[in-house]
Amino acid sequence: MRNLVTGGAGFLGSHLIDKLLNVSEEVICLDNYFTGRKTNIAKWLGNKNFELIRHDVINPIQLEVDRIWHLACPASPVHYQSNPIKTSKTSFLGTYNMLGLARRVNARILFASTSEVYGDPEIHPQPEEYKGSVNPIGIRSCYDEGKRIAESLCFDYQRMHQTEIRVARIFNTYGPRMIPNDGRVVSNFIVQALTNQPITIYGDGSQTRSFCYVDDLVNGLISLMNSSEIGPMNIGNPSEFTIKELAEIILKKINSNSKIIYLPLPQDDPLQRKPIIDKAKDKLDWFPKVNLEVGLENTINYFKKVL
Ligand code: NAD
Ligand code: UDP
Repeated sequence: MRNLVTGGAGFLGSHLIDKLLNVSEEVICLDNYFTGRKTNIAKWLGNKNFELIRHDVINPIQLEVDRIWHLACPASPVHYQSNPIKTSKTSFLGTYNMLGLARRVNARILFASTSEVYGDPEIHPQPEEYKGSVNPIGIRSCYDEGKRIAESLCFDYQRMHQTEIRVARIFNTYGPRMIPNDGRVVSNFIVQALTNQPITIYGDGSQTRSFCYVDDLVNGLISLMNSSEIGPMNIGNPSEFTIKELAEIILKKINSNSKIIYLPLPQDDPLQRKPIIDKAKDKLDWFPKVNLEVGLENTINYFKKVL
């Protein structure tokens, strides 16, 4: 298989590339290095099955591939909000260009969508049938609405051109290779705890998230790509924690002197989030295997090395 991984130098993309190259598939990694790093894929440079292209997905590209894993898009609120117009362009034009490429070369394309399509959900936990509650004009909408229009494009390509799509709705994922200044909660709390900085809880910490370890998540993406399901498919870990609980678990694991401080909750920050993964269990025989304790230990050990 000739695989194209957009966003391949990023957190999830680089783990996916490891798994594909480890089973001797061919991989082209395409990235503009906005939030990705060459160090994430440096060990593959020189491998005959690996190629690296610096490219921005908002521009079209011609390549011969069998499978497209379309992950290119900043995922952390800090980064996707730093240039929201660019985030919208990446979501719409990037996905449009990748679907166009998939159509031209008859490739199967997996799109990395997100639980953010559910917005600040009124029903809990979230099944794939839930249509979501997204503010179309808020500070998160460049990302949330960007992913929604990208999903819409995927399904229109499928209906109009029979493009082979796979749409994964990824829930909060963490693990080694997140960048220290990524801004997402797990990396923030670990870096703060390891450096004895204050732990920054936004709001009162009662909002919830369900955290999936990166290995589990990438296995879920691979299962979806290899299946006959088109999605949308929730891929995530249904174990739900408040943000305050997460802070306390991390503080205890690191035995840190950091104090918790409370900062304002950002606009439109979802109050709860937990996937229903029955579809993935039934159709893909996939479910997450790594619990938060073990996943956090691996992630903490990673940050101890890089800081
Ligand atoms: P990341 O920021 O680490 O990786 C994104 C990668 O895409 C980076 O390497 C970045 O440089 C690249 N990129 C961004 N814009 C680009 C552009 N215009 N052209 C080319 N490359 C570009 O994020 P991640 O956590 O690895 O997320 C990967 C994908 O999964 C994203 O599409 C994200 O929306 C989705 N996702 C992730 C999570 C999560 O918790 N990690 C949750 C839901 C969805
Ligand atoms: N959060 C926090 N402190 C931080 C970073 C994030 O309390 O330093 C909160 C954030 O407000 C949100 C949750 O943690 O309620 C998850 O945030 P993240 O940015 O990781 O992901 P997302 O909001 O996209 O799920």
